[in-house]
This record gives sequence, C-alpha cells and structure tokens, in this order.
Amino acid sequence: MNHPEDLLPDYAMGLLEDEEQKRVEAHLQVCPRCRAEVRALREAYYSLPLALKPPPPRRRRRPLLLFAAALAALLLVLAVPAYRQARAGAELLALLARPEARVETLRAEDGQFLGRVVLTEDGEALLVLAAPPPPGKVYQAWGHTAKGPVSLGITAGRVLRVRTAGFQAVGVSLEPPGGSPRPTHPLGRVPL
Ligand SMILES: [Zn+2]
Repeated sequence: MNHPEDLLPDYAMGLLEDEEQKRVEAHLQVCPRCRAEVRALREAYYSLPLALKPPPPRRRRRPLLLFAAALAALLLVLAVPAYRQARAGAELLALLARPEARVETLRAEDGQFLGRVVLTEDGEALLVLAAPPPPGKVYQAWGHTAKGPVSLGITAGRVLRVRTAGFQAVGVSLEPPGGSPRPTHPLGRVPL
C-alpha cells in the first residue's frame, strides 16, 4: 500500500487542497495505520495550546515563544519532512507569532476547564477545546453582542478558527449536528 505520509500533517490541520484532501480521505478509509497517525498528530497539535497557561500580562510573549519552540520540536520528532513543517501548524503559528496574541482560558460556569482561546487584536480567535464533543453533538462558536449571540461556526472536532471583530465575548455551546440558530447548551465564554 502507498501511504501518503507526507500529506498527513497538513491533513490533520485541515490545510490540504481539495484534490489532495480527497486522496487522503480515500486512503484513510482503508488504512488504520494512517488513521492512527492523523489521530496522533491532532492530539499533539491540540495539546500544545491546552498546555499553555494564560501568562501574566507583562510576560505574555514568553509562553508563546515556548509554544512555537514546542511545535517545532514536535514536528521534528514526528519526522515531518522539512518542506511540510513550514505549512503544518501554520494556522496556529500564524496566530501565536503575533505580538498582540493573547491566550485565555475557557471555563464552564462551575469552573470546569473547557479549553483555551488564542485571540489577536485584529479580531481572530482560535478555540481549542480540551475534549471532542460527545457522540452525536457538535461544538458551535458564538459571538456575543448586546443584541444576542451570532453563530460563528461549528465543528465535530476540537478546534474552531473564528472572526471575533465587533463582538463583546466569544463562547462555545454544545449542539445537535448542523448547529442551532441560538445556543441551546452554552458551555462557556471569554470576554473580548
Ligand atoms: Zn496508510
């Protein structure tokens, strides 16, 4: 069997073009080994922002630089080819490399840890949830305004990249597949 190993890191981050994406998906249907590798890559990528603690305001650069170093080391350990390293993880790095990037903790009302939110001043956010949604549910991101919540997107996975400009807070809820017009089971939110 011909394993598309060099495409898996980008696939795990959702960075492939249509044709490559379809090729990898067709292969994953029949290859448990590559499926396991995609799972491992996703776990590794997503565990990094979760491991970050929101830094005190004056020292916030350092954890972000540590994150970048950790990701680079990880890609090396996984033997991701050099020409792919530049693209794999590019979404996370592009956000984290910005000087104004800020990491916040997403918590439920009872204080339970839900995940992290990486925010930039020009209105982008990466939501990384600690666990995938329960079977038959999706996460839905919301931008909150004085007039109410606006849907920002859904995922059956653990990561959402959203635009937050113009909102007072960004939040996450648990919804049936396809999402809901209003949050039915809000989990938590972070003020912007
Ligand atoms: Zn394979």
